[in-house]
Amino acid sequence: MTTIPKDLEELVSRSQFIGADQSLVVFGGGNTSAKGEITDHLGRKRTVLWVKGSGADMTNAVAVDYPALYLEELVSLKKFEKLSDEEMTDLVGKALVDPNSRRPSIETLLHAFLPSKHIDHVHADSICALTNHKGGKKAVAEALGDGFAYVDWIRPGFELSKFASQFAEMEGIVLAHHGLIVWDENSDRCKDKTISAVNKANKYLDSLSVKPAAKFDHAGPSDQELNDLLLVLRGKLSRKTKRVLTVDKRLEELSKRKDLVAIAEAGTASADHMLRIRPWSAVLPEKADPTNSIPVIDKYVDRYKKYFEANKSLLPQGYSMHDPDPRVVLLPGVGSITTGASKNEGKMLADIAFHTHSVAGRVLDSFGSADTIGDAEVFGFDYWPMELYKLSSKPKPLKFAGHVFVVTGAGSGIGRGIAIELAAQGASLVLADLGDEGLKETEKIIIGNKGLKPEFVVGDQSKESVVIETINSAIKNFGGFDGVVMSAGIGVSDSLETLTLDKWNQGLAVNLSSSFLITKHAMINLRKQGIGGSLVYIASKNAFSPGAGFGGYSVSKAGMLQLMRIAAIEGGSAQIRANAINPDAIFDNSKLWEGGIREQRAAAHGVKPEELEDFYASRNMLKVHVTSKDVALTTSYLLSDESSRTTGSVIAVDGGVAAAFPR
Ligand SMILES: [Zn+2]
Repeated sequence: MTTIPKDLEELVSRSQFIGADQSLVVFGGGNTSAKGEITDHLGRKRTVLWVKGSGADMTNAVAVDYPALYLEELVSLKKFEKLSDEEMTDLVGKALVDPNSRRPSIETLLHAFLPSKHIDHVHADSICALTNHKGGKKAVAEALGDGFAYVDWIRPGFELSKFASQFAEMEGIVLAHHGLIVWDENSDRCKDKTISAVNKANKYLDSLSVKPAAKFDHAGPSDQELNDLLLVLRGKLSRKTKRVLTVDKRLEELSKRKDLVAIAEAGTASADHMLRIRPWSAVLPEKADPTNSIPVIDKYVDRYKKYFEANKSLLPQGYSMHDPDPRVVLLPGVGSITTGASKNEGKMLADIAFHTHSVAGRVLDSFGSADTIGDAEVFGFDYWPMELYKLSSKPKPLKFAGHVFVVTGAGSGIGRGIAIELAAQGASLVLADLGDEGLKETEKIIIGNKGLKPEFVVGDQSKESVVIETINSAIKNFGGFDGVVMSAGIGVSDSLETLTLDKWNQGLAVNLSSSFLITKHAMINLRKQGIGGSLVYIASKNAFSPGAGFGGYSVSKAGMLQLMRIAAIEGGSAQIRANAINPDAIFDNSKLWEGGIREQRAAAHGVKPEELEDFYASRNMLKVHVTSKDVALTTSYLLSDESSRTTGSVIAVDGGVAAAFPR
């Protein structure tokens, strides 16, 4: 390990400071740099520029996010009259000290052509608010004084870098619809200049603020109304690709404004926001319901397609239209609803939407009307090859990205195995169990595998209120769900002559009645969502091939199969599929064998308790141990579109037991 040069160290810590404030930069926006000396591979002292890597997020900045480039190589590029983005990227790449380092920012030359040692470039909310209207230049002069240059919109690249370099003698530069650049020889002073300019802009905007905007005065939707709306929206927005919806209340006050449509029309605060949240957001009606909201999405899609058609001559070769669905939907009285492959992505978009629309609200308050960069420039940014390249080099999404599943009994055994497998395939999960200890352990394994953090519902799934809470958790947290896995279950041993009614009833409640309740409430809500769904019943080999002394259990599991068949028949019209899995002898992490059941089953088979696993393995045709992972893989198949033509069926995962063949 080589030591990190002091200039780079200062740059990293300054960047972390800036990255921690989302009103300065959000998710990969903006960039910072420092110039300093290194010793090259031949022992020569060389001056380099460290600049933020493309797409790196300053919040968690580390030294490797800042590739070093030979400064004189970069400065020499100034002699060119014009360079396309591709030519510039290629030439900038040749100046890298280590060709294998992170790709430097598209704005590298902006930092190279300005001579100062430390440079900050932020997409600050308050600075963008100064510029996103017709009188931007005047507002910047009034807010920051005449030490700052004002540069009209130019897309980042060679032209902007060269143009901006003429202002090196000034205090800084404001880039309209984009952000701020300041510099200093000292890192701390550079940071202070950024903060000072942002504060001045805020003070100026506050001094202008006109009377509060008119607002709707009705209450927003009730919890039930919101759930119904989310389901319908998720169904609509998941037609081609499954998406998770994230509700964020930070824009609640803004969403009550009567000029909400104008706010959305004002576009994004800084141009780079549109790469994540699209050029515009959709706005639902004041009293949104499932009926009047869907046409809004249709209209949005139409508009996007028209905008694409009108500008498609500007489209770089080899690329096609983005998915035209909105990424952000503004819901009056609630705030924003964002879409993504996960809640993490939804939250990220919500952060950007919060800043972008707050800026638009501020522009309208302070200046009366907003001004944007125009459709052709929006298109140029929306379909910027530099960004399209980043998209195309992203890894393929996981099988269950954007999918939401509910798994009961997820705190141990088969349910845990299923949860782990689904999470590994990118699913968003609601996990339910009686206690939270087992769930926490399941979560630990999921997070350790880099899966998404699941939601928990703790309670007895044979109670209707708990079942409703479980289904609502999926809707509230993710906008809806695609499938339910009924894996909660208990063993009920004893011969019929000794089995108590209480134990019998308990077995039926936990194994069968809970499945009925989940089926019922899952079907009601999947039908509202309108994109089908998959119900998976974890039954048992015992459903077809019962054994003596295990009647309470076997009857409940046989009932589960019949329940599954009825669900398949009744759900078919709504594309809701229902299938069952009959596992046998799953021992890993399973609670089923606790409480004397292992001993009783061993006695019934004439083996010692510790020999039970091997006994079951020797009993099946394939002579194998069956694990929760085996059941999980079959569950994954039944939840996915791979089994889209299969409903009402039973798949045995038991190593092959002739007496239990489905028939
Ligand atoms: Zn920028």
